[in-house]
Amino acid sequence: MFRASGSQALGFFDDPANPMKEESPMKLEALDRAHLIHPITEFRSHEEKGPTIVTGGEGIRIRTADGETLIDGCSGLWNINIGHGRSEIADAVAKQMKEVAYYPGFWEFSTEPAITLAERLAKLMPAESGLDRFLFTTGGSDANETNFRIAHLYHAARGEPGRRKILSRAHAYHGTTRWAASATRLPAYHIFAEPDPLYVEVPAPYCYRCELDKECPSCDLACVDSLEETIQREGAETIAAIIAEPVLGTGGIIPPPDGYFQKVRETCDRHGILLILDEVITGFGRTGRWFGMETYDVRPDLASFAKGITSGYQPLGAVGLSQSVYENIRDRSPRGLPFMVGLTYNNHAASCAAAHANLDIVEREGLVDNSAQVGSYLLEQLHNAFDDHPFTGEIRGVGLMTGIEWARPGDKKPVGPKPMAYPAAICSEARRRGLIVRTLWETIGVSPPLCSTREDIDEIVGILVESVKAVAT
Ligand code: PLP
Repeated sequence: MFRASGSQALGFFDDPANPMKEESPMKLEALDRAHLIHPITEFRSHEEKGPTIVTGGEGIRIRTADGETLIDGCSGLWNINIGHGRSEIADAVAKQMKEVAYYPGFWEFSTEPAITLAERLAKLMPAESGLDRFLFTTGGSDANETNFRIAHLYHAARGEPGRRKILSRAHAYHGTTRWAASATRLPAYHIFAEPDPLYVEVPAPYCYRCELDKECPSCDLACVDSLEETIQREGAETIAAIIAEPVLGTGGIIPPPDGYFQKVRETCDRHGILLILDEVITGFGRTGRWFGMETYDVRPDLASFAKGITSGYQPLGAVGLSQSVYENIRDRSPRGLPFMVGLTYNNHAASCAAAHANLDIVEREGLVDNSAQVGSYLLEQLHNAFDDHPFTGEIRGVGLMTGIEWARPGDKKPVGPKPMAYPAAICSEARRRGLIVRTLWETIGVSPPLCSTREDIDEIVGILVESVKAVAT
């Protein structure tokens, strides 16, 4: 099997400490097929193909039980921002666990890492963001669920309990728990369960495939005019919030056009609707600034974070409340009514310790700036490599969050014999050549860790070029 260069140099294949030798991977494979369920994976095909067992990693590369070294061109799920194998996080978590691994954050109980992480996030937020209060969750879906509850609570406390609806955009991904899935507007996630009827879809700023059939910028952001029409139709007095990813991620890496978020913000303000920014992917450096709200100069009322907060070394998410939302709930709720939001693992001490160690690395190594610089190099190299390809629909991105959308020229239909076939074939080829990249509908997402170098980008783009050449159309 072809392996990505660098694997030998890293000494992955003769690592005496690696317990995954000879027969044990086979046994693990069989046990995996027999007992372990994998998210977003067909049972039948998984039983046929079996797992790829990951045994370790270093920097932007992972190693597998059968001796492969693969470039992690997706940073796991856009979360392993600092890269793999950072043992200082393990040390920080171990230290915390020896003191107090966890104690419920309910009522008055607290732990030092949770307290100091909340303060640290307050300082990291853009100066005028107003986001000042934080509650830690276990991931992104529950951060969004929590924010929907907070939005309802906010309006109820202000005497408008009828504001129950949540608006979200076509192509959005906000998670797969009940309400988060209802805000997710990708049809594949609704095959067996309709979204909750209180969740209402509005158009996305997906200019390459504008559902309103307009051209940007002459459209004057017609998608936001359409948001306004939806508000008029549904009644502002029924709407609690709109949720939006600064860059639509799973929907296909879709950055907004200029002025988009300013017009959304202004629309929300006019109607008393809260703006929830879902920074689960974009937070902590992915777009080349600390947060998407900085990249697009927009201030939310509520925000959701996860992924890059710990780079995946421990599960953790967070919700951020603006001072105004916080004060309205504090001052206008009936006296004696607790904040009725609570997950057993809110404010988890060991996970908060992991977040601190992760953010130490991001700051010390200047990974946010690196994301901006190496990210623009990546975008440039993708343009150089694929602008002239007949099936390049659009190349887009910001920071280390990029994608190539493939389409037939003219009608923009899928290139392959069926939807997603062409990008999936390219991803399989890339995987055979030592690079993990991901299909997002007709788009291939390329989002390596924030510690990537220009040389890494050259290697990634080189593998993509070879993979595209190898795929017949
Ligand atoms: N929001 C966005 C923008 C995401 O991309 C994701 C996951 O990919 C989520 C929310 C859900 O987060 P989690 O998988 O941690 O529940």
